[in-house]
Amino acid sequence: MNRIAHWIGGAETAGTSGRVGPVYNPASGEQSGEVDLASAAEVAAAVAVAKEAGQAWRSASLSRRAAVLFKFRELLAERAGELAEVITSEHGKVLSDAAGEVARGLENAEFATGIPHLMKGAYSEQAATGVDVYSIRQPLGVVAGITPFNFPAMVPLWMCTTAIAAGNAFVLKPSEKDPSSALFLARLWRDAGLPDGVFTVVHGDKEAVDAILAHPDIAAVSFVGSTPIAKYIYETGTAHGKRVQALGGAKNHMVVLPDAELDAAADAAVSAAYGSAGERCMAVSVVVAVGDVADPLVDAIAARLPKLRIGAGTDPESQMGPLISAAHRDKVAGYVSRGATAGATVVADGRVADLPADGFFLGVTLLDNVTPDMDVYADEIFGPVLCVVRVQTYAEALELINDNEYGNGTAIFTRDGGAARQFQFDVNAGMVGVNVPIPVPVAYYSFGGWKASLFGDTHMYGPDGVHFFTRTKVVTSRWPDPGTSSVDLGFPQTR
Ligand code: NAD
Repeated sequence: MNRIAHWIGGAETAGTSGRVGPVYNPASGEQSGEVDLASAAEVAAAVAVAKEAGQAWRSASLSRRAAVLFKFRELLAERAGELAEVITSEHGKVLSDAAGEVARGLENAEFATGIPHLMKGAYSEQAATGVDVYSIRQPLGVVAGITPFNFPAMVPLWMCTTAIAAGNAFVLKPSEKDPSSALFLARLWRDAGLPDGVFTVVHGDKEAVDAILAHPDIAAVSFVGSTPIAKYIYETGTAHGKRVQALGGAKNHMVVLPDAELDAAADAAVSAAYGSAGERCMAVSVVVAVGDVADPLVDAIAARLPKLRIGAGTDPESQMGPLISAAHRDKVAGYVSRGATAGATVVADGRVADLPADGFFLGVTLLDNVTPDMDVYADEIFGPVLCVVRVQTYAEALELINDNEYGNGTAIFTRDGGAARQFQFDVNAGMVGVNVPIPVPVAYYSFGGWKASLFGDTHMYGPDGVHFFTRTKVVTSRWPDPGTSSVDLGFPQTR
């Protein structure tokens, strides 16, 4: 049994709490490891090490910090294949998808190599006579990231690259379901020359998270996960005086207008709904078919489903792997049953698919004639289930999306540039795709949803990430000639 330990002070550190959690290989269903679950005392010990390391790291020159980021980027690129294998072994997604996750995470390391430029402040000469005003960006100190199971490398990379480049010490609490990618990243940071203690991993569950949220030496918490926990993290973290950004769940709608290129729309819907078994916060989970596109679109999607190859993520033939756990698979299957009972048309039923005998596999489901009052529409299912809602007009499609609780990503498929532009103007969601089903922004923009998909006011990575992991200081400075001063009790004015 593989024992998965914490990473504190630049080395693996065995847990002392006496509590561990099981880690599975979802493709076989067998337990592959045991992860240490930190107590509050262990979190405090890790934060103390991080605090000391962070104090030295904030003094490292910008060029030194950039050099570590460049080296980290090179190592990550060199060892991307190995990291993808680690991801697949605990998450289950197919290797090509895991490699895609690493490639998108790598972009964040590339962005962070530009930290000398990103940390620049502003300078105003002669703001008042003989007075200059300038701003400085400084790191916050110790910052924490709490991350979900579905992107065990990419989401930590969204956070730690910018946080560390900006001069913070970063404490990662990864998902306890697939914790080994975090340790892989820790070794890369060490090999890249990052001083010990600047990158820390504490594994754990609610106990460790609560210890992070209450710890007085942690200045900021960046969270990605489900909406109820995101809300809890935001409320608890801010109540403890921390800066918090908490990204939550999603229900992403893909609108297909009658003039859309049908095959392209069907390909996109299938890819974005079932990739990674639907366990993506940017997965398309609802197709909104407008007008008479509905029948041919549902037929085109359905025709593609029998060709999907479901199997172990390590098999190069597989396009879709298992779900993360037996419990999650059963929960998703339960939604299919509830959809059928509520009156949705079951076009394809993942519960009866021909699947590998072992592991947490579920086939793909397509539900047509879904209505907003059904659970399958209202809830984030986070599995290989695609719902089709039929509407008659663009206005109805827009209303559906804007009334939805979530506002992470959305997409429109059309050949009408004017309609697409209107959609981008009208829709209440943080990330919009035009003929692009999964519009995850490139690293030099920022990632984030609206409504119940994000609590806080900055998005993740990119310029917002730099903003989140730094604070500004504004200096007003004067170098008067000796003998020119006088007492003046009035409020300072610019003259
Ligand atoms: P989750 O909310 O169960 O867990 C996320 C993190 O919170 C984990 O580190 C976990 O240990 C911790 N946690 C879980 N329960 C907790 C509790 N009661 N108290 C304190 N901490 C707790 O999410 P998950 O199942 O790991 O990930 C899937 C979810 O993440 C989906 O809802 C998905 O949409 C969302 N997600 C969102 C984005 C985004 O960018 N908006 C990206 C990826 C995933």
